[in-house]
Amino acid sequence: MSHPPANLSRRGFFRGRSAPAAPLRPPWAVDEAAFLQQCTGCGDCIRVCPTGILTALAPGQPPVVDFRQGECTFCGQCASACRPRALRREDDRQPWSYKAAAGEACLARQQVECRSCGDFCPEGALRFPARAGGPALPVLLEDRCTGCGACLAPCPTAAISIGRPD
Ligand code: SF4
Ligand code: SF4
Ligand code: SF4
Repeated sequence: MSHPPANLSRRGFFRGRSAPAAPLRPPWAVDEAAFLQQCTGCGDCIRVCPTGILTALAPGQPPVVDFRQGECTFCGQCASACRPRALRREDDRQPWSYKAAAGEACLARQQVECRSCGDFCPEGALRFPARAGGPALPVLLEDRCTGCGACLAPCPTAAISIGRPD
């Protein structure tokens, strides 16, 4: 995957995030209304996901992503398993628009050195520019963030959320 220059499209990593308007569906899900019509709740996607991040709130319910269990590698197995094509992987469709954000609990904001999220980000989307008077704060390079969720579980204070951009 090619990346834009690192100084483009920086955005605040620290943002309050209100409750998501819609649940976080698996990658390549069709839009929410269509998804709820097409998904049969069969659970095939949940069973094949190698990182175990897909779950249902109750048996037979449509799947949601739980990044506390791990990250999405965009392997596509969930979409391949989805017979009604509620997950539709086609050349021109992005898996999702999710991005990472961090809240007040970030240790670096509490004057404690921590770079766990950056250490686990496979895309190099988190940078830590030096700052006077305290530990470096993480900065998200939005164009690099795939919303994979790899940064969420390693955060020692559960400060990171994954969601749709504002
Ligand atoms: S693309 Fe792969 S890792 Fe991501 S949710 Fe689907 S099966 Fe799981
Ligand atoms: S495989 Fe498709 S139809 Fe079955 S639960 Fe997953 S998204 Fe729904
Ligand atoms: S969601 Fe993935 S790509 Fe984005 S900052 Fe976290 S680990 Fe990096």
